[in-house]
Amino acid sequence: DASDLLRGALLQISESDTVRSAVVAAPVSRAVVNRYVAGEEVDEAVATTARLRTTNRLVTIDHLGEDVTDRAQAERTRDTYVTLLDALAEDDLARFGAAEVSVKLSAVGQSIPGDGDAVALENARAVCEAAERVGTTVTLDMEDHTTTDRTLETLRALRQDFPWVGAVLQTYLHRTESDCRDLAHEGSRVRLCKGAYKEPESVAFQDGEDVDLSYVRCLKVLMAGEGYPMVATHDPRLVEIARALAGHHGRSPDSYEFQMLLGVRDLEQKRIADRGHQMRVYVPFGDDWYGYLVRRLAERPANIRFFLRSLASN
Ligand code: FAD
Repeated sequence: DASDLLRGALLQISESDTVRSAVVAAPVSRAVVNRYVAGEEVDEAVATTARLRTTNRLVTIDHLGEDVTDRAQAERTRDTYVTLLDALAEDDLARFGAAEVSVKLSAVGQSIPGDGDAVALENARAVCEAAERVGTTVTLDMEDHTTTDRTLETLRALRQDFPWVGAVLQTYLHRTESDCRDLAHEGSRVRLCKGAYKEPESVAFQDGEDVDLSYVRCLKVLMAGEGYPMVATHDPRLVEIARALAGHHGRSPDSYEFQMLLGVRDLEQKRIADRGHQMRVYVPFGDDWYGYLVRRLAERPANIRFFLRSLASN
């Protein structure tokens, strides 16, 4: 429908450098960024985490950045994660996984031509060592479909030493129900989301309704399985279905969790936590917020209209 089209168009034009410069420079960007991003520095991510913990919400922190092709930049991102994990531990926010981290492999080297996978694996391993040291976990974000196989391969390699490393699967991809079957085993942490990138018809459902139906099929597999499902969606129907399926399979509240993004449905996040469910908030921080912002705008037609109108009036 119209909103699926608008979403696709926005993701497409966002790839232009001219559009990128206009958006990054626009004052309105700052207001929208502040809603979805904790700040630029480690201490701001820690402060946001502490605030969310006062309402009993769990946290996963993402250092913004992607498609890094410079080795030194990838290593700086790795070091920022290690600094962040130590800072969380210092304020006693990491223990028992209260706050964990989410890592995009393309931010730690996967996109480097040639040996990108090896660089990303080595950097991700360092982040995992730091996480283990402070008693928490790491989840690998999932990016566009050209990286899915390589990301799942890196997941397998990391899990040999760190069996608690989690992954993200995206229900807009045709392959995902089968990936869910492969990853529904004991000890496996899978974050299920709809998917946020512009993907071709050959690999992904284009219609929102089909993505939702796929989400339900995947939930059934994960909830029936032995792993730890992480239900990442703001869609009230899917949250309800997840709750019902967990009940149907006799799951205890600590055997799965809900996840939502910072700045999206905040009241609902608190309500879900108050009802005794585990609710984890995805908290991004850092100065490279453009790609993240565009994907958040694309998810909501009202956001896009507001944003384009403000850009035009500048
Ligand atoms: P939608 O149908 O998009 O939204 C349902 C309702 O939620 C909307 O009607 C609206 O009320 C509200 N809503 C949704 N988005 C917004 C918004 N931006 N602003 C305001 N209201 C909104 N995608 C990936 O491709 N890879 C990842 O690794 C990844 N990790 C994620 C981690 C977490 C914890 C979460 C919550 C999402 C992640 N995503 C990831 C994004 C995900 O794929 C979706 O793009 C995003 O969650 C929107 O889908 P939805 O399930 O909320 O449903």
